[in-house]
Amino acid sequence: MARLVIVSNRVSQPGARSERAGGLAIAMREALRHSGGLWFGWSGETAEASSSTPHVVTAGGITYATVDLGKADHHEYYVGYANSTLWPLLHFRLGLISYRRHAFERYRHVNQHLARTLAPLLRSDDLVWVHDYHLIPFAAELRDLGIANRIGFFLHTPLPPPEILTALPHHGTLMRALCAYDLIGFQTKGSVRAFLNYIAEPAGGRHLGEGRFVAFGMRSRAGAFPIGIDTEPFARTAERAETAPETQRLRESLAGRELILGVDRLDYSKGIPNRFEAIDSLLSDRPHHRSRFHYLQVTPHSRAEVAQYRTLRREIEAAAGRVNGKFAEFDWTPIRYVNKSLSRQTLAGFYRIARIGLVTPLRDGMNLVAKEYVAAQDPGNPGVLVLSCFAGAASELDAALLVNPIDVDDIASAIDRGLAMPLAERRERWNAMIGVLRKNDITAWRESFLAALLDRGSVVPLRSVASG
Ligand code: UDP
Repeated sequence: MARLVIVSNRVSQPGARSERAGGLAIAMREALRHSGGLWFGWSGETAEASSSTPHVVTAGGITYATVDLGKADHHEYYVGYANSTLWPLLHFRLGLISYRRHAFERYRHVNQHLARTLAPLLRSDDLVWVHDYHLIPFAAELRDLGIANRIGFFLHTPLPPPEILTALPHHGTLMRALCAYDLIGFQTKGSVRAFLNYIAEPAGGRHLGEGRFVAFGMRSRAGAFPIGIDTEPFARTAERAETAPETQRLRESLAGRELILGVDRLDYSKGIPNRFEAIDSLLSDRPHHRSRFHYLQVTPHSRAEVAQYRTLRREIEAAAGRVNGKFAEFDWTPIRYVNKSLSRQTLAGFYRIARIGLVTPLRDGMNLVAKEYVAAQDPGNPGVLVLSCFAGAASELDAALLVNPIDVDDIASAIDRGLAMPLAERRERWNAMIGVLRKNDITAWRESFLAALLDRGSVVPLRSVASG
């Protein structure tokens, strides 16, 4: 069996404190253990200059090779081009893009540097799987070094249509680099469509059917591989966490009121201000809900180096204060806004006792929180998922209450409906959703991607995925 080499911006190293060692990290570790493997990427540390010799650690049959990035490299590649240019672009937010040509040059340079550092560690039959928008040019850089291995790429974010993609200066350079992969995986059929449309026009390539195409003088293949979670283990974690001390404390603090729960990194793609406005709309238009629920919004800070995130933080804090100021009583406040990062175990217990999981991103590649919320429910008394139709998860979880996150009254109506929903309907909807999550779990995702990379599988492997 070929050795698997995973390349991602961040590497989840054994024993290292990681804020978000979630289902993906577990799946990657399992895959690497299965076939023996190497995980390569940035160490998470910065130094005066980027290191050319990786730190190599082997544990549990997996080799971890990581590289420190120079401060300037980190600033322009990660903070600059990846998170200030590509992230807003890929989430359809042209107005939030900040672009500097030297940041793009540095992004390419860091990809080249990382590729040169990995190349000597590669064996000729390794299967290489590269993850996410930080590393789009990685395969092209490896090819320039004469590496002929099969190399696959998975984009965890959405891909916007050509009308938006072409706003990016030098988009052709980036998209040409993307075509150097043997397989390009997206979260939804909608993103595959956007990609193939770009290939047709402006790239002038040709679609050959089943995701295969020729463009920029290269032949490759694109497909939808919606990422899953570790459904069954997570459900068991949630069942156990129901009686954990944190869950008990939360339950006691509710004093018999219903819990509405939101869990999102502090990011403008998540639509948090709209959600607060929806609570305002709900309590204004339907006053019988006052004092009847607590809405807990767990929002760890992220990317504080990027100016837009600092502005958003102030905006959200002000919105929470405004809504609480408007409706709070001496013994009740509608919104609990928490900036801490909680462990996945703690979240599992919170999901389980929440009557409503409120997941309303303006745009999201998948949104794992939506899937975790569903997996964590008590089958005998499940809660209700209110889900944005612009999250990748909506393609599979169409039994949720789907909302347009821009329409705060739509969100308010869905919360109202969720709070009143009879048990029979909640069970029916939950059964439909958990069935999909059991089938399309993280193992199925990994296996279908790798089979397609070896050219042994279909590129649209999950039958229940509706066109997204
Ligand atoms: N998460 C966590 N602690 C927190 C908040 C989130 O462990 O305090 C995890 C959450 O369980 C999920 C992931 O972070 O696995 C968030 O993934 P998602 O796809 O929803 O959003 P992203 O942050 O990747 O945009």
